[in-house]
Amino acid sequence: MTITPLTDEDWMRHALRLAAKAEAAGEVPVGAVLVKDQHIIAEGWNQMISLHDPSAHAEMLAVRAAGRVQQNYRLPDCTLYVTLEPCSMCAGMLVHSRVKRLVFGARDYKTGAAGSIMNLVNHPKLNHQLESEGGVLESECSAMLSAFFQRRRAEKKHLKLQALRPADVGNTLEKRDDDDAVSSC
Ligand SMILES: [Zn+2]
Repeated sequence: MTITPLTDEDWMRHALRLAAKAEAAGEVPVGAVLVKDQHIIAEGWNQMISLHDPSAHAEMLAVRAAGRVQQNYRLPDCTLYVTLEPCSMCAGMLVHSRVKRLVFGARDYKTGAAGSIMNLVNHPKLNHQLESEGGVLESECSAMLSAFFQRRRAEKKHLKLQALRPADVGNTLEKRDDDDAVSSC
């Protein structure tokens, strides 16, 4: 009996499940899994808030854990799957770690360093270039992030309204109802 190898989409679905762990903890939902020879070496999800660590991005945690598992600071022949395009910090770290291949889901047009605002993972002047592929399960990965930020904006608005005096709240709510009515036409 032959075992069908898992596809990029299968691994990205696993990364999405890890992103859900971040979301459940109130973090921006990004998940990452590092794979070698069809086996999971390490997993990560955003934990910047809970660890009080600005570098605790999903892919950073996955690669650090993989180094410990492999007992090697270099991770050749590994593929990193991450639900969001890596930032410049993580892209630089991926070059240092010698990860062979990067597969990401949503593109990040504000901070993405695998092609969106710059390309560090494939820079000809750096001493390692990764094979890179973006847009795998892009709509699912983007939808998860958009829903999270939408919810967070709504929560912030709610808190702002609560901080206003009761009279102001009434006026603001009435105004919002009018606005909503106009925009839904
Ligand atoms: Zn990052």
